[in-house]
Amino acid sequence: MDFEAARARLVEHLSSEIKDKRVLAAMAGVPREHFVPPDEQHLAYEDIPLPIGQDQTISQPLIIALMTEALELTGSEKVLEVGTGSGYQAAILAELARFVVTTERFPPLAETARKVLESLGYTNIAIHPAEETLGYQREAPYDAIMVTAAAPRVPADLLAQLAIGGRMIIPVGPRHVQELYKITKKRQKNIVQNLGGCRFVPLVGRGAWDEE
Ligand code: SAH
Repeated sequence: MDFEAARARLVEHLSSEIKDKRVLAAMAGVPREHFVPPDEQHLAYEDIPLPIGQDQTISQPLIIALMTEALELTGSEKVLEVGTGSGYQAAILAELARFVVTTERFPPLAETARKVLESLGYTNIAIHPAEETLGYQREAPYDAIMVTAAAPRVPADLLAQLAIGGRMIIPVGPRHVQELYKITKKRQKNIVQNLGGCRFVPLVGRGAWDEE
């Protein structure tokens, strides 16, 4: 299969909704086929989510691009991602920011992601196991936070790790369908925007969901 041609076609499709050229360039640069299981590789450039094991999924490319665009990255940021999964989103963020800290609760997913990211030569991504407190407090504050699993409400522990002026993108709502929120942290009152409906696996931990 010609992955490069498929990737170019996907980016062309995304460009009808995604206007940030840097985001499109990142999507054009990261080989998604490396981040999905071998038997899914032929679907790597369909605009659909795919299973990655442990009952988790790599998100649909359009959602990934929309969430990334909403973070308004310029290249100088330290970014936190919650939910490493396959590592694909971390790679996209690493193309667009200075440094990416990402956390994952399933060690086998983190391990697979680490190997792929290493093989692709990324040196500005740190993967950490999930801790009792959501996120990764030791490296806070972050200029941007992307949560790739859904919470019942915006977790205060994550908001606390966001810098003033920073942006957080997080799916919020009931277990099986949510709204994508963009929160811009302000000294006085945070700005909250609703970017539309979405569907994510649950964020599990204190301040989010209990294990099923
Ligand atoms: N960003 C990923 C998609 C991951 S799916 C990608 O690009 O492939 C969401 C991930 O969040 C799952 O792997 C799940 O295990 C993880 N997750 C759920 N709760 C978490 C928590 N509290 N801390 C870190 N990761 C969590």
